Amino acid sequence: MSEVILKVDNLKKHFPIKGGLLQKVVGHVKAVDGVSFEVKKGSTFGLVGESGCGKTTAGRTLLRLHENDGGSVIFDGKDIFALNQKELRDIRPEIQLIFQDPYSSLSPKMPVGEIIGEAVREHKLVPEKELRNYVMQIMRECGLQDHHIDRYPHEFSGGQRQRICIARAIALKPKVVVCDEPVSALDVSIQAQVINLLMDLQRDRGISYVFISHDLSVVEHISDEVGVMYLGNLVEKAPREEIFKNPMHPYTKALFSAIPTPDPTVKMNRIVLEGDIPSPAKPPAGCKFHTRCQSCMEICKVTRPEYKDYGNEHFVACHLYNKQ
Ligand code: SF4
Repeated sequence: MSEVILKVDNLKKHFPIKGGLLQKVVGHVKAVDGVSFEVKKGSTFGLVGESGCGKTTAGRTLLRLHENDGGSVIFDGKDIFALNQKELRDIRPEIQLIFQDPYSSLSPKMPVGEIIGEAVREHKLVPEKELRNYVMQIMRECGLQDHHIDRYPHEFSGGQRQRICIARAIALKPKVVVCDEPVSALDVSIQAQVINLLMDLQRDRGISYVFISHDLSVVEHISDEVGVMYLGNLVEKAPREEIFKNPMHPYTKALFSAIPTPDPTVKMNRIVLEGDIPSPAKPPAGCKFHTRCQSCMEICKVTRPEYKDYGNEHFVACHLYNKQ
């Protein structure tokens, strides 16, 4: 069995809602409400769901950019939330983040070489006199050219800027990279190039990814395992082929039914989800999806379905299968 590099167990992140004259806590937005998954070494876990489902908060909490409100994250044998600030700083290079918007995450006043080399220098990952050559080598690996090293972010296209962000992360020799919608701000023609770069780097360096996206075609392409989030919970999780061949949860079926097919003769049976995603501050009782589910039964309105393994490492939380 492959080794697990990241184990997320029952992770919770609840943001307080303050109100009234005294700004007292009057409720909580349960952005992440008990999420569990594992990432194996050198593999990709795709996290999908509509905007507002909590996938970005989950990604940031597992990096400890937010403190958790429950659960644990074990990275390479270390409990992330038990680390003190010095220990956390020491492991930072090993667990990196790539953002959606490459432009706002790059300092406009720094040349590319400094952007990529800054944290390498800070963590003393290579001797100072070798730093420039090391940065150039990483840039080449990420499809950038040597003369780009003294240029500034505004001189690059969106795709090149994302390559700079990837190079900055890779230069730190990470074991895990959380990629938060890394291609959604790019033209479709550029998206494939950046995805291929991420896959090449994974093959060559054995990096593991948590790949957060609302784009199922991209997730299908890059992921080894896929988790579907709805209102702060994973409602389904399975190896890629299994989940795309046999989606079980009604929410997953609706999401997958919207994936465009390249064959114009294939008729799409799209399942249209009625209504908006409810507020995570006031999630519906029972199954959180019951207000939009076409298969809703009485039990769904009062009892939360158990998240269970139905074989082939295929986990689902839905009463439709509990009856069997
Ligand atoms: Fe639909 Fe009920 Fe399953 Fe929830 S538990 S997804 S409401 S059938």
